[in-house]
Amino acid sequence: MATRTRRPYITLECGECKRNNYYIQKPKGKAVEVDNLKPSKFCKVCEKHTEHKAKVK
Ligand SMILES: [Zn+2]
Repeated sequence: MATRTRRPYITLECGECKRNNYYIQKPKGKAVEVDNLKPSKFCKVCEKHTEHKAKVK
């Protein structure tokens, strides 16, 4: 069996300025519906909470 060294990362991109503000590791063993993730996060550039888009790297 291959060792699992490469775990996918998710980047959270601001929906307004398109900056990648968050870089998180995808939880292991869980099927996360990344496309449906639209968390509201604080964006330093917009200086407010905006809807972020999740992207798998
Ligand atoms: Zn922004």
